[in-house]
Amino acid sequence: MLKTIPAKTILSGYAEHNSWFGANYNMNLYKGCSHGCIYCDSRSDCYRIKNFDAVRVKENALEILERELKSKRRTGVVASGAMTDPYNPFEKQAQVTRGALSLINRYFFGASTITKSALVTRDIDLFRAISEHSPVLVKITITTPHDSLARLIEPRASLPSQRLEALSGLAQSGIKCCALMTPILPFIEDREEDIRLLVKRVYETGAKMLYGDFGVTLRMNQRDYFYEKLDKLFPGVKEKYIYRYGDSYNCASPHYNRLRKVFAEECERYGLIYRMSEIIRYYRKGYYEENQLTFFKEKP
Ligand code: SF4
Repeated sequence: MLKTIPAKTILSGYAEHNSWFGANYNMNLYKGCSHGCIYCDSRSDCYRIKNFDAVRVKENALEILERELKSKRRTGVVASGAMTDPYNPFEKQAQVTRGALSLINRYFFGASTITKSALVTRDIDLFRAISEHSPVLVKITITTPHDSLARLIEPRASLPSQRLEALSGLAQSGIKCCALMTPILPFIEDREEDIRLLVKRVYETGAKMLYGDFGVTLRMNQRDYFYEKLDKLFPGVKEKYIYRYGDSYNCASPHYNRLRKVFAEECERYGLIYRMSEIIRYYRKGYYEENQLTFFKEKP
């Protein structure tokens, strides 16, 4: 059963030039995530989320969101999916993310979503409606082309093959969508042939954008959980992490430079947009005047 937690706010404050996909607001309707990714950053101590694997919905989330959307002086792109997947298994029945997208549409905001669930295609109608007036970007994270590997590292998320199918559904429906190829786990997923294959698979979906990075970040608590899983799933790999990265936050693949080059080459070959600044420009295009720094107008 889906539990609730008290909440005072849903939307963050306005940010003008967010370098992470150019969103202006952030929202989390749920707390916790049941997808079980072994590398999940949201487990880190700094976020203080107890019992992270249990999904809870924020009480009166949609009422609070509506109040906040109405009260904002400026519209802008509302991002979701940073701390929890907005398309967790409860969302199918609860439809809180769907309700939030309806409000985002009603109050003329844009939407930028990250997910690892094929359920996102259910809301194509709303993404379409929003894109009539504001930018939309749907990002689906895919870190490996192999379903069998994903079952180990992202055990309860949709399989990569299902995520690619979802990406294809979005692209065919005219929704601006992007594959997010991060994190790529060193010593597990950082194989040149897999990067090439994944870029090709993304291209075949019809999506125009792909963002990649080659490594993982690790901090307190998240690292302990990750290492525990490595010991169970990939014996001997934890020792490689300890030897190479110690307590470092940034754990770039030992093949980082090579993989970046291969990734860029493959994206160029298939005509995919892969630089962050170009992705932001592409999905916002048409919604603001050229050279206008503040791309959303003041609300009437
Ligand atoms: S889907 Fe995202 S929030 Fe959920 S466990 Fe995986 S990395 Fe964490």
